[in-house]
Amino acid sequence: MSHIPVLVKEALQFLNCQSGGIYVDCTVGEGGHAQAILEQLGGEGKLVGIDQDREAIHRTTERLKRYSNLALIQDNFKNLSIILKKLALPATQVDGLLFDLGVSSLQLDSPERGFSFRFDTPLDMRMDRSASSTAAHLVNSLSREELTKILKEFGEERWARKISNLIVEKRKARPIRTTNQLVKIIEEAIPRLGGRIHPATRTFQALRIAVNQELKDLKEGLEEGIKVLSSGGRICIISYHSLEDRLAKEQLKRWAKPCQCPPRWPVCRCQGKPVLRMLTKGPVRPTEEEILRNPRSRSAKLRAGEKI
Ligand code: SAH
Repeated sequence: MSHIPVLVKEALQFLNCQSGGIYVDCTVGEGGHAQAILEQLGGEGKLVGIDQDREAIHRTTERLKRYSNLALIQDNFKNLSIILKKLALPATQVDGLLFDLGVSSLQLDSPERGFSFRFDTPLDMRMDRSASSTAAHLVNSLSREELTKILKEFGEERWARKISNLIVEKRKARPIRTTNQLVKIIEEAIPRLGGRIHPATRTFQALRIAVNQELKDLKEGLEEGIKVLSSGGRICIISYHSLEDRLAKEQLKRWAKPCQCPPRWPVCRCQGKPVLRMLTKGPVRPTEEEILRNPRSRSAKLRAGEKI
């Protein structure tokens, strides 16, 4: 399956790209959104595309090589300020930021990356393959309690304890190295309820989030994001599960509140000025037509704001 970018029209509308502006696609992936932004920029201004996945950067460099105002960087978006500095771009003059979170279809559909239980492969799940910790490493080394916590928090898995108990028991006999080994354990651990989603879905999501420290990085990335935006600059976040969406929503809300002081401060010292104007009331969802055309968009939610 080739990669179709999600909510492109909507994202472009919120980014409101002006020719001559500086834009950053923090999750450039296959470059679907990036290309749409570049077309809108029409050769003026600059687009920086970031991805922590080296393969994505290689492929997109090749695919979008005809655009001379595109700079592609393999890095984590939590290092946004450093990345701008390295490119000799102004530190607080970004006109628009896009976060299209999660994994790409390229990652999901590449068996050797170990993101999907559709293939029997080593349990890897690293977006950045130079990172040290794979899913296999976590599954074989974390304590029962740590595993349970990850499955509960990142997978919202109600059978977390049962699954981690069985993981800990099974790995004593033989390390868990492959997706199939893990799927079998999950199937054995939890009752068959005949639900719509595969019983391994939540565990795989939880491990993926843990391996890539997705929520921690998103929090840091958003904090960097608001710093680098110019006044009037736009931020646009597309998320694919409730944990990500909650984090994005709460951060935008906090910025849009009059007082930015930490709640533990007894009196306000920030003079009560919001830093962001919310552009979306609720999440923007794909149309039914888009979901039919591109099943990956099914769970997408877009939220956007403008720096004051
Ligand atoms: N909008 C893209 C698809 C993005 S898929 C397109 O149109 O093609 C999400 C991408 O974000 C993946 O390639 C993943 O490697 C990357 N990613 C996720 N978290 C990241 C982070 N913290 N830093 C940099 N890239 C990240």
